[in-house]
Amino acid sequence: MDNCKEIQSRIECFEQGKLSLKNEEAFTNHILGCSDCREEMEIYYIISYGLDDDEENRTIDSHYISFLDSLDFTGLVEQKLKDSKQKCEFISQWSRFNRLRYFFVSGVMALTTLLLIIIRFF
Ligand SMILES: [Zn+2]
Repeated sequence: MDNCKEIQSRIECFEQGKLSLKNEEAFTNHILGCSDCREEMEIYYIISYGLDDDEENRTIDSHYISFLDSLDFTGLVEQKLKDSKQKCEFISQWSRFNRLRYFFVSGVMALTTLLLIIIRFF
């Protein structure tokens, strides 16, 4: 599933934030280790930057602007991948924590119920 063609077809979805967490993680990990796809992603940004003449309608995260101003697309891609990796790690840690909390809460509830039953009937 991790072939370059498929990854490269997801660049636009990645940029628009349309990938699921699992897909984004796979995407980012692949591109970090694959110079072909990284190059493809740079080209994507070069083209979309070149096509986008309308400065006022541009919606770019302010911390990417300095890369664009200096036309450093390699740096831009690197920064985007780094951010995405951080985001994925954060979300997966967060959901792990939530799962843990869920187990804890249901554990406590089961114990309380058990305790109530014991108190009530014995
Ligand atoms: Zn690749």
